[in-house]
Amino acid sequence: MLVVGSGGAGMSAAVSAAGAGARVLVTTKSALGAGNTGRAQGGIQAAVGDDDSTESHFEDTFAAGHRTARPELVRRLADGGPEAIAWLSALGVSFTRDEGRLRLLRCGGASRKRLLQAGERTGAEMVKALRGAVRASGAEVWESTTLVDLAPEGDGWRATLAPGGNGTRRTVHARAVVLAAGGGLRGEADALGIGSTNHPDATPEVLRLALDLGAEGRELDSWQRHPTGSVWPESLAGYALPETTRAYGATLHDADGERFVDELAPRDVVAQAIIDTVQAGRGAEAPDGSAGVWLDTTAIDRENGSGFTAERLAYVHNRYLKAGMDITTERVLVYPVLHYRNGGLAIDENAATTLPGVFAAGEISGGVHGANRLMGNSLLDTVVYGRIAGASAAEAAR
Ligand SMILES: Cc1cc2nc3c(=O)[nH]c(=O)nc-3n(C[C@H](O)[C@H](O)[C@H](O)COP(=O)(O)OP(=O)(O)OC[C@H]3O[C@@H](n4cnc5c(N)ncnc54)[C@H](O)[C@@H]3O)c2cc1C
Repeated sequence: MLVVGSGGAGMSAAVSAAGAGARVLVTTKSALGAGNTGRAQGGIQAAVGDDDSTESHFEDTFAAGHRTARPELVRRLADGGPEAIAWLSALGVSFTRDEGRLRLLRCGGASRKRLLQAGERTGAEMVKALRGAVRASGAEVWESTTLVDLAPEGDGWRATLAPGGNGTRRTVHARAVVLAAGGGLRGEADALGIGSTNHPDATPEVLRLALDLGAEGRELDSWQRHPTGSVWPESLAGYALPETTRAYGATLHDADGERFVDELAPRDVVAQAIIDTVQAGRGAEAPDGSAGVWLDTTAIDRENGSGFTAERLAYVHNRYLKAGMDITTERVLVYPVLHYRNGGLAIDENAATTLPGVFAAGEISGGVHGANRLMGNSLLDTVVYGRIAGASAAEAAR
């Protein structure tokens, strides 16, 4: 079987399929593990807290998606949370603990503290562990090799793969295929000239290929903005300050210093409030004239004590220090940036698309989040549905 892409979803699928006895080939556009997954800083949601339940995780997720997601898919996502964390831990992801207990944060749209972190770069830690697991699984990996065509052939699919540079195209026959090529929003953002948080590999050709083959899609044009894209300093323009800044107490203010939204509301609500504030002429301006609102990161140390930002948000703090700005004494000008494709290829609970023998997982799929995604649920989606897709595809190939 063939796995296309090697972010969280592709690597989880490959490990799961190889574990189920399938002969697996992973083809991926650049290096193994390169993609949006490695950029994730905020964390991963799972109902592991003492006062939490998978039912509550389900409710929060379904409500944040405006009740447009497929309930069965949301249910499987929430139910799979604790087991996904156990699986990642077994692969070597070291989730941050306070005095021996998992550290949990409440993030936008969640009714409980449910966000786990592995240091400050949870996605990068996941990629490191999954990369090792893929290498150990026996799956074959073709790096710098892009899927350019897929066509039905006999009992499966013929995939045309293009190695980087001027390499000769190769075709492979696979009984089953897992599409895990991500949401491709960088491609869309570049075409529209809008800022995006996405990795350069995040282009939508695989999604389009599947749709052209007749796969059903859902909420394809529902794109999530990350509320707090940095506007200034120029060298950090478009960089998304993680949601944890607001979970730790950073507040949003218009040019007059007034707060205008609940900072822990779901992302679509916060992003829209920022856009409305700027459009109403209440935004502040960067030296180059770009508009935004103030994210008062100085509130974090005021609320939690001096040194808190330097310890808990060391990565963000240092990035700004290098750019000549101290976020413990200065506020950051922010404006929403394009971040995540909420929809994608329609899947069922086994991660099957409507094309026979073709499965999908991660940001390329649709129906898990509906028209808006909760922060931290995407990393969980890649693991829960990546593993399901791998097992389903292995079974289909058999
Ligand atoms: C800056 C940033 C911060 C984020 N923070 C969080 C967070 O804190 N918590 C959270 O839950 N989510 C977060 N997200 C979202 C989350 O990281 C992604 O949605 C998720 O990791 C996507 O995983 P994926 O495996 O579906 O896709 P990706 O990780 O993007 O992987 C896609 C893979 O497909 C490959 N590929 C693409 N096209 C082709 C092709 N034609 N042929 C072969 N290979 C191809 C790519 O090279 C890549 O390996 C964040 C995203 C960004 C960008």
